[in-house]
Amino acid sequence: MPSENMKEQLLELEKKALEELAGVDGPSELEKFRITYLGKKGLLTSFMKKLVELPADERPEVGKLANLIKADLSKLIREQGIADIPASITATVDVTLPGREPLRGHLHPITLVIKEVCQIFSRMGFRVVKGPNVELDYYNFEALNFPKDHPARDMQDTLYVSENIVLRTHTSPIQVRVMEKQKPPVSIIAPGKVYRRDSDVSHTPMFHQVEGLLVDKDVSFGDLKGTLTGFAHQMFGRDTALRFRPSFFPFTEPSAEVDIQCVICGGEGCRTCSHTGWLEILGAGMVDPEVYGFVDYDPEVYSGFAFGMGIERIAMLKYGIDDIQLFFRNDMRFLRQF
Ligand SMILES: [Zn+2]
Repeated sequence: MPSENMKEQLLELEKKALEELAGVDGPSELEKFRITYLGKKGLLTSFMKKLVELPADERPEVGKLANLIKADLSKLIREQGIADIPASITATVDVTLPGREPLRGHLHPITLVIKEVCQIFSRMGFRVVKGPNVELDYYNFEALNFPKDHPARDMQDTLYVSENIVLRTHTSPIQVRVMEKQKPPVSIIAPGKVYRRDSDVSHTPMFHQVEGLLVDKDVSFGDLKGTLTGFAHQMFGRDTALRFRPSFFPFTEPSAEVDIQCVICGGEGCRTCSHTGWLEILGAGMVDPEVYGFVDYDPEVYSGFAFGMGIERIAMLKYGIDDIQLFFRNDMRFLRQF
């Protein structure tokens, strides 16, 4: 079919459509009209499908005309549709305004840091596990070598649900829960919420920790240092120095507090690091053989290390935030920055 003929047919179709549109009355007739011409099997749509039969050099011109007519008709249908909207609506709403895009959320800075910490340890072969927030006294204290009358219990301002049930004060009970079910080798990382009766600029009654545990044959303090150094380098940068200070936890022996060189001043001394050049980021140590007694591991055969860090602390250092309460105030001016 020569193109002149096709163009004539197109113009004929347009004329017919415009005449018909003039007689259309109400939204349902308008929709019927739209389907007749522009629907999947509509007259104009079918016509456009036939364009492929034209010789390649004539196709663009006819195609352009067809597209113009289609755009024109679509515009007229839209305008007619708006005109059909009852005055009671158009009097209060401008229906021609573009729609409002729904707000898209994003992850909370605490969630972002948890994800990053878990990713770093996953790459080193640690498996991510979770545990209950409401915990038995047995897992939170006793099986971690905190006997009932142990003074170390006073270091944690515990929220009791009942005599033997607590809101977990640390993520360490997950260590025991995992070792009860699994024989070594064990290597896990366990993020989650923890609870203590405490609230000021650097404490909130609910905060987040990540627990790490590795038990196998011939695990040494050197493995612990290597693992934590690898973590600090990936989290805070290649040149970050680490310092291990002797400390005490009932479930590790020996125990250490781990500091990183101040990320704000680079070790020179500033307000954030109290002019020491160091920042405490976590507690760690070799698993105390007493703990193995609770989970039926042979301390003569196996050894391992454990560590726990506060996520808010890491996030505050990473993003330079000086008030922990900001994380939980739901202030959009703060949250939008992440
Ligand atoms: Zn500093």
